[in-house]
Amino acid sequence: MSKPALSKQQQKLIALERMEQLFQEAEQAFSVNKTLADRYISLARKISMKTKAKIPLKYKRRFCKHCYSYLRPGVNSRIRTGQGKVIISCFECKKFTRIPLKKS
Ligand SMILES: [Zn+2]
Repeated sequence: MSKPALSKQQQKLIALERMEQLFQEAEQAFSVNKTLADRYISLARKISMKTKAKIPLKYKRRFCKHCYSYLRPGVNSRIRTGQGKVIISCFECKKFTRIPLKKS
């Protein structure tokens, strides 16, 4: 049994689409079932690691790098910007994530 050959490029595109879906589902699930939202994050991370496709920057702010909880600003996280960085405080594990802002 051989799998249909997909180029690395195609695999990454599919991975990106899938991650996009998972983050959207996490967003929807969050208010109803936080555990489920966290589960979507873990799935998205697995896809990212497996395919080496990077999690899109806009979604990197939506989960905690330390405990991988789905974060909603004002609910279980706080986002601040300063000195060219976005600083995300996670209320779940009380840690900070810093993401450098790209100069545009
Ligand atoms: Zn955390």
